[in-house]
Amino acid sequence: MISRKRMFIAIIFSCTLLLSLFFIFKGKFQVVSEAISNENVSEAILNENKVESSPKDHDVIYFSPHADDEMLTYSVSILNDIRDGKKVHLVLISDGDRSFAREMINGKYDYESLHFERAGKKVFCKIHHTYHDPEKEKYKDGWLSRFEVGQARIREFYKAAEFMGVPQERVEVFTLKNDKYTVNEVRSIIRLYVERYPHAEFKTMSKFDKHPDHAKLGKVLEEFYLAKKIKKPTFFLSNYMARFSKKHLVGHRVYLKDSADRNKVKQGLNVYRTWKPQEGWYGLGIHSVPSQFESMYKNPYTMIDISDANK
Ligand SMILES: [Zn+2]
Ligand SMILES: [Zn+2]
Repeated sequence: MISRKRMFIAIIFSCTLLLSLFFIFKGKFQVVSEAISNENVSEAILNENKVESSPKDHDVIYFSPHADDEMLTYSVSILNDIRDGKKVHLVLISDGDRSFAREMINGKYDYESLHFERAGKKVFCKIHHTYHDPEKEKYKDGWLSRFEVGQARIREFYKAAEFMGVPQERVEVFTLKNDKYTVNEVRSIIRLYVERYPHAEFKTMSKFDKHPDHAKLGKVLEEFYLAKKIKKPTFFLSNYMARFSKKHLVGHRVYLKDSADRNKVKQGLNVYRTWKPQEGWYGLGIHSVPSQFESMYKNPYTMIDISDANK
């Protein structure tokens, strides 16, 4: 009897031991397999951000500081690149939600305004020669907050890109604060694309631009060139610098290669002039810089900064 009892205890003990060993090893195995899959994930992220292109792809990356710069300054060059069979990518750096167009379209200052101390004061619209009223004019989004203005500007950007023939999957949007870009923010965005498209052509604004957001892009992109990370970039004199500024910069004028593209320029510009507030189109571009739109509409050309001559 005693030996049977002992045997029974021994069996129970061995089973418990085996079971606990099983769970210990199972736990370890899980940890190891999780570690492997984590490794795979980080590798996948790395790969995604690595080389996506080969020289044969002829990728061209345009960094647009604000929605409308791609039309007012880059559109001629974008359409020429597409004619040449290049794969154009558009990168929007800011949603421009701090634009003064918001106050003009709302018809009043509010507490989100840069001059919030003027909240409640009326703002006259020079485009429509009236004081706008979101309620009476039945705006789709009602009173436009900064967030809604940012979203509306992004909508305009995608639509204009579409008219030029740049598909949505080749448009990317960042939301840096306009008028407040830091060099570090700009550098990390550009680095992302340099790593992803090491063979691409890179194009942006001149570092001599009067607008600090524009100039920062030019300066940082030039750093990547000087560090031999990319081939020689193209820098543009913005529509303002080329046509309105008193500061004279030497530039090389570029026209459309194919006159059939003139219509695409007009369609793209028209997106920013569209006033259908009940459908969520607020003509944010035209409310910001009307004279630049008019000038580009009449005479579509762009100017490339001949940098060395501008020193
Ligand atoms: Zn701009
Ligand atoms: Zn208006």
